Amino acid sequence: MKVLLHSCCAPCSAAILEWMTTNGYEPSIYFFNPNIFPQEEYLHRKNEIKRYALNLGIEVVDEDGTEDSPALWTDAHLKWKNGAELMASEPERGKRCAYCFRYRLLKSAEYASKHGFRLITTSLMSSRWKDINQIMEAGKWAASKYPELEFWDKNWRKGGLYERRNILARQFYNQRYCGCEYSIR
Ligand code: SF4
Repeated sequence: MKVLLHSCCAPCSAAILEWMTTNGYEPSIYFFNPNIFPQEEYLHRKNEIKRYALNLGIEVVDEDGTEDSPALWTDAHLKWKNGAELMASEPERGKRCAYCFRYRLLKSAEYASKHGFRLITTSLMSSRWKDINQIMEAGKWAASKYPELEFWDKNWRKGGLYERRNILARQFYNQRYCGCEYSIR
């Protein structure tokens, strides 16, 4: 079965992709993370997942496509920031993160619907630093905008997947903060 995996980064995606491909799923990777700041960090994370996907022969949909254009990246980030800066002082796992999850997953759901996917999920759920319920709520909300689409709320931390995540993550660049400028502090 085809599934669209919204990917936030390689360390959080590798074990999920491995599990999917060994359990009869056909994943495509969807990279849409305009929250990541600065551009250098954004490109670093994106290039890591692209490199991994290339080795496995998995399609990557690069929704931002901003490698060669600082202006395009700035534009995409500012659009995201328009909503986020009102909640700049929120702690992680607070309202700004709920907005950020909805922002990214809504775009993922839109793409999935346009391209014939019936199932979407996200690597965001594999990080223990994030509130899994907040992410599931955002995913279900996004998928509910498209009647044929379902958000796959499998807990990607269970069944040995979190341990496997940590093993596979050693081969990648591992970021030291969540992504946006507010999370660098
Ligand atoms: S801390 Fe992470 S999830 Fe929260 S708004 Fe920033 S990038 Fe998004």
